[in-house]
Amino acid sequence: INVLVCNGTSCMSSDSEMIAKMIEKELEKRSIEAEIRIIKTGCFGFCGQGPIIKIEPDDITYVQVKVEDVNDIVDSHLVHRTLVERLLYKEPNEKDQIKDGSGMKFYKKQMRIALRNCGEIDPENIEDYIVNDGYLALAKVLEEYSPEDVISIIKKSSLRGRGGGGFPTGLKWELTRKVKSDQKYIVCNADEGDPGAFMDRSILEGDPHSILEAMMIAGYAIGANHGLIYIRAEYGVATERLRKAIAAAKKAGLIGENIFGTEFSFDIEIKLGAGAFVCGEETALIHSMEGLRGEPTKKPPFPSEAGYRNKPTSVNNVETFANIPAIIINGPEWFSSIGTKSSKGTKVFALAGQIRNNGLVEVPMGTTFNEIVYEIGGGHPEGKEIKAIQIGGPSGGVITKEFFDMEIDYDSLQSKGAMMGSGGMIIMDEDTDMVQVAKFYLDFTQDESCGKCTPCRIGTKRMYEILERLVNMEGSPEDLNKLKVLGENIKSTSLCGLGQTAPNPVLSTMKYFKEEYEAYAYRTK
Ligand code: SF4
Repeated sequence: INVLVCNGTSCMSSDSEMIAKMIEKELEKRSIEAEIRIIKTGCFGFCGQGPIIKIEPDDITYVQVKVEDVNDIVDSHLVHRTLVERLLYKEPNEKDQIKDGSGMKFYKKQMRIALRNCGEIDPENIEDYIVNDGYLALAKVLEEYSPEDVISIIKKSSLRGRGGGGFPTGLKWELTRKVKSDQKYIVCNADEGDPGAFMDRSILEGDPHSILEAMMIAGYAIGANHGLIYIRAEYGVATERLRKAIAAAKKAGLIGENIFGTEFSFDIEIKLGAGAFVCGEETALIHSMEGLRGEPTKKPPFPSEAGYRNKPTSVNNVETFANIPAIIINGPEWFSSIGTKSSKGTKVFALAGQIRNNGLVEVPMGTTFNEIVYEIGGGHPEGKEIKAIQIGGPSGGVITKEFFDMEIDYDSLQSKGAMMGSGGMIIMDEDTDMVQVAKFYLDFTQDESCGKCTPCRIGTKRMYEILERLVNMEGSPEDLNKLKVLGENIKSTSLCGLGQTAPNPVLSTMKYFKEEYEAYAYRTK
């Protein structure tokens, strides 16, 4: 029997580590510890119901487990084989209890590719990963494919970067491969910094080996023998699991010289970031890794030509990498058969805000907001009307109710003035003040501006001051025009993505909730 206990950060904050320890102790007391394996997994995704425990092969999922429930789980379920009914999940307004995760509406429309091992394996045990086809894709690549073949597979899959911009991954690798150099680098961007986003953290906490494997495949494809993972220091659990994964892979000969007896060698190191939002931008990230100020520089040259230490570098984000081994094993046609015309595969979203089922969801591209919010997310916890969704964090924009039946992909979002970003999705109900929401995001971006260029450094501050004036009832109708003109100028004149997108939350809420701005502008003290 396997007892899987979620040990992602959110369940850990509700005592899941202690729960796992207590189960172990209780098993020892009853001298049955040899028959039962406790597996501390990464995130199951259904964070709102955590801590979650799954018992296999019985296919039983217990939710909202507390330390006080451990005795019952051990005595009733593990010893006497009877269910602990009160810990089973129940859909709201339905009386039947659900025994296994696949029966929960939360999971029904999901398709887990990037999250395939999260909640399934012990991320600190390399054997668990290997048993689940881990390092098989790397072996296949090294034995069967040339670097050009690998690039062609990734291009055929139509995988686009999941970090925000949606740049085609295969093309990025091809551009880096084509540059002649004695040294190249693969960088994993794990600097996830959007408020409300925790996709990359969860993947690293739940399945670190998949990222190492993908980085090595990318290294082989572009001709690099060194990889760097840039991760924010606040991600302590993810960093620790990555460290352990690198050490285990080195010990197993999967990282190092002559991998699988071939001429391919690869090493991976971790670089800690200090948590600046701008360091998610690839040139700023590279400077930070070099020990310089985390400031962006003008492109070109792109990192594919002159990146880390001025050498050709491919920077890809965590979720992008998480898809790579699955594409190699299942083939590019499988991957490109999922999704919409322009956006293939799945996307992981962090569902937060005023929603019943918050957590991590992975759905095929083309899934609608209605499906995510009402079928997976279960709607508003008190049945209030949901008025808008902020997607893409501080760089994104709002999607209003009239577009909730829109199929989500890179292009459909852009056509509505929003963007995929890294995948944060914050749900807001009818009581939400959209001017305050815009002010919150602008407060974040103006604070995170690196200060290198004037429109972003000064412009976002002035926009913030106008918003503050408005909500303090000290504004005027002209302020609305000022906000718009300033916002558009900042977008078109800022050096990097941070400044180019910082006005988005203001401009998109002004577009769709003009009356809320006017209410402030015409109502002065
Ligand atoms: Fe720095 Fe903002 Fe200019 Fe980007 S746009 S370089 S964050 S000041």
